[in-house]
Amino acid sequence: MTTEKLPHWDLRNVYPSLDSAELAADTAALASTLDEIDRNLAAWIAEPDAASTVSRLDTGVELFNRALLLSSTLRIFVESFVTTNSYDTAAAKKLSELEMVQVRLQQSTVRLQGWLRGLGKTLPEALKPAGGAGGATGPVGALARDHAFILLEAAEQGRYLMSEPEELLSAELSLTGANAWSKLQGTVTSQIVVDFELDGVTRPMPITAIVNLRTHPEEAVRHRAYDVEMREWHKVREPLAACMNGIKGVANTLWKRRGRMDCLHASLDQGRIDRATLEALLDAMRGSLPIFRRYFAAKARRIGKERLAWWDLFAPSGRASQTYSFSQARELVLETFGRFASDLRSFAEQAFARSWIDAEPRDGKRGGAFCAAVPRVKESRILCNFDGSLEQVSTIAHELGHGYHNHCAYAASRTELQQSTPMTLAETASILCEQIVNDALLARATDPQERLGILENALINDSQVIVDIYSRFLFEKEVLERRERSELSADDLCQIMERAQAAAYGEGLDERYRHRYMWTWKPHYYIPELSFYNYPYAFGLLFGTGLYARFLSQGAGFIPDYQKLLAGTGEAPAAELANRFGIDITRRTFWDGSLAIIARRVEDYCSIS
Ligand SMILES: [Zn+2]
Repeated sequence: MTTEKLPHWDLRNVYPSLDSAELAADTAALASTLDEIDRNLAAWIAEPDAASTVSRLDTGVELFNRALLLSSTLRIFVESFVTTNSYDTAAAKKLSELEMVQVRLQQSTVRLQGWLRGLGKTLPEALKPAGGAGGATGPVGALARDHAFILLEAAEQGRYLMSEPEELLSAELSLTGANAWSKLQGTVTSQIVVDFELDGVTRPMPITAIVNLRTHPEEAVRHRAYDVEMREWHKVREPLAACMNGIKGVANTLWKRRGRMDCLHASLDQGRIDRATLEALLDAMRGSLPIFRRYFAAKARRIGKERLAWWDLFAPSGRASQTYSFSQARELVLETFGRFASDLRSFAEQAFARSWIDAEPRDGKRGGAFCAAVPRVKESRILCNFDGSLEQVSTIAHELGHGYHNHCAYAASRTELQQSTPMTLAETASILCEQIVNDALLARATDPQERLGILENALINDSQVIVDIYSRFLFEKEVLERRERSELSADDLCQIMERAQAAAYGEGLDERYRHRYMWTWKPHYYIPELSFYNYPYAFGLLFGTGLYARFLSQGAGFIPDYQKLLAGTGEAPAAELANRFGIDITRRTFWDGSLAIIARRVEDYCSIS
C-alpha cells in the first residue's frame, strides 16, 4: 500500500468555486440560450419557410453547441464535488438546481427533433454540399453542413418520440423518477463504511476500498473482504432493488410508448450499430468462453484449487503482486504512452501535472472510475480509486485514454454536437491505452514470474470485459424482460445474477462462490435512458485490440489515421468508421480475429508454470 499523498483533482480554472459569480453567470447564460432556442423553434414551427431553412439550421446548430458546452461544463464542475463527497449537501443542492435547467435542454432537444423531422425532404436538400453565398461568419449553411450527420440522425430518431407534451412531461418527471432512483443508488453505495482489519490494524474503510481488496495478493484478505461485501450489500439490497425496479420500469414504459421494437432497440441506435453487428459480436463472445474457462482452470491450479471462487478472479500472480506508488504508476504510464505516440505522452503529462486526476479513495467518494470532458477549458478530469495495484495502473491508463479521445476532438476543433460519440466507440481509446501499457510491460519482462504477473493482469481484464460483460448483458436483458410483468424482488435479482454468471463463467467459477450482488454497485445498471451499457465494453476491447494489431503492423503511420478516427467518432455510424481501417464489424470474422489475439495470451499464460 502506498504512503504518499494521493492527488485530488483541481477544477478552479473552470470556476473559482460553487458559489462564484462566474458559475452563476454561466448558469444564467445557459438559461438564456435555452430561452433563445425555444423562441426560435416556436417561430420556425409556426412559420415554415423553405427559403430560410439553411440559415435556421445554422442558428440552431450554433445555439445547441453553446447550450451543450455550458451544460456539460457546469455539470462536471458540480459533480466534481458530489462524486468525491456525497455528504456535501450544498453541492447536491447545486446539482439539483442544475438538473432543473438541464431538463429544459432535454425538452428543447425534443422540440428540435420534432422540427427537423417535420422538414421532411427539405432537410437533406438543405444539407447537400453547396458553394452558397458568403456571409459575415462564413458561407451560409456551412455550419449546418458540417453537422449534417448529427442533424439527419436527430431527424431520423425523431420518429421514436412520443407527442411533444408527453415528452416534455416525461423529461420533467425524470427528475423525481428514474434520475432520483439513480442518485439514491449512488448515495447508498458510497456511504457504507466498515471496520476492517488489514496488516494487524483495524480501521474504518469505505466499501469501495473493500471491493478493491479483491486484488489483494493474500487469499485470506480477499476472502474476508468478499464476506464483508456480501454482508453489507445484503443490508442495503432493498433500497437498491427499488432503484433497479424504478429505473428499468421507466425504461420499459418509454421504449413501448416511443414505438421502439424492444428494450434493445434504443441501445443499438445509441451505439450506432445494427442488430446483426451485435449478434456477430455476441456470437464471437459466446464462442470464446471455452478459451476463458481454460484460463480460469489454469489460474485455479496455480493457486492450488479445483475451481476459482469469486474472490480469486482478481488475484494477482507472480511479480505483479508488487504494488506501485502513484508516482511509479505515473512514470510507467508516461513512458509506455511515449512509445506509442509522443502526443499521447504529452497529453498524459499535462493531466498529471495539472491535477486532472482524483486518485484517493475516501469515505463519501463514489467507487470505480470515470473520465469527463470539461469543454469550457477543453480539458478532461479523471476520477479513480488508486490502491497501488497493477489493476489500478491499468485503470489510470484507461481513463487517460478517454481523456486523449476528448483531446483529439478538441485539437480538431470539433463542436459539442460533433463529439456525440456512441457508446460502442466510447471505449476505443481507453482500451487501446490499456493495451499499450500491458504490451510494453510484457515486452520488457524477462523474468517468467514478471511475465506471469503482467499476463495475469491482462487476462483478468480481458475475462472481465468478455465473460463478466456477457453475464451483465444476460442479466440486464432478463431484468428488463421480467420487469415488464412485475417488480423484481432482491432475491429475484440475485437469482438472475447467479444464473447469468453460471452461463458466462460455467465451470470456470465455483458455483458456491459467485457474486449474487454484482447488480447492487455497478453504476451502469442505474443510468436512466442508457440501457445495456455493457456490450459496448466488449465492442471496445475487441475493436481496440483489432486497431492495436494494425498499429503493430503499420507502426507510426497508423497514428494520424487513429487521431482522425478519435476526432471523428461522433460523425458517422460505427461500421463506416471501422471500414476506414479495413475492419468489417458486421461479420464475426473480425471479432474472432481479436479474440484469437487474446487466446494467444491465454496459451502464453498456461505455458508458464
Ligand atoms: Zn471506459
